[in-house]
Amino acid sequence: MKPKETLLNTKETPNKQEEEMELDHSFFSMETPLRADAFELDDDLKVELIEKHFKEIMQILGLDLNDDSLKGTPNRVAKMYVKELFKGLNPKNMPEAKLFDNKYNYKNMLVEKNISFHSVCEHHFVPIIGKAHVAYIPNKEVVGLSKLNRIVRYFAQRPQVQERMTMQIANMLKEVLNTQDVAVIIEADHLCVAMRGVQDITSSTVTSEFCGKFQDAKTREELLNYIALKG
Ligand SMILES: [Zn+2]
Repeated sequence: MKPKETLLNTKETPNKQEEEMELDHSFFSMETPLRADAFELDDDLKVELIEKHFKEIMQILGLDLNDDSLKGTPNRVAKMYVKELFKGLNPKNMPEAKLFDNKYNYKNMLVEKNISFHSVCEHHFVPIIGKAHVAYIPNKEVVGLSKLNRIVRYFAQRPQVQERMTMQIANMLKEVLNTQDVAVIIEADHLCVAMRGVQDITSSTVTSEFCGKFQDAKTREELLNYIALKG
């Protein structure tokens, strides 16, 4: 049994009505929760099994799988899950980040902004569509610009929580670039907010992770100014 204090500190959802139930984002873990046997089945077998189960979901919904337009759907969805939308679950798909010497001795921040991404909300399995802005201050080495996009995409291609995705990208950048001076800002629309529940189509969610020198107010402001520029 939990001690009373823990219970008081826990953000209990006040109203557990299904429609309005709020998801508590404060307990997500940094790592995507994966089982130890996550990659024991190969991708083709996963497609086959998901196809079978998705077909069942459609059948339960009352859809006629003999219809020409629907009969290929279970296979399409299964392939899309394994080979596209959730490709980033598998570490074998992690982008290689080739580093180059910082020949120009560039010491200012580098900002790659408006990196568009699509992800999937892990609570409802509907899209999260957004933009990521990433920045770092180079150490002795720099990374090819497109790698920054690829790192964002890799973490987007799995069931996600925006807070976790922001931190996962920041951590990988720190590791790859061998510096603490990285920042990640993500602004995204969550279709689970637009399509269901409160059905708000105008709200968006912003998350950020400022590390190293980006914790300094001036550096942070400089970054925010760059991101605010149009184009
Ligand atoms: Zn959701």
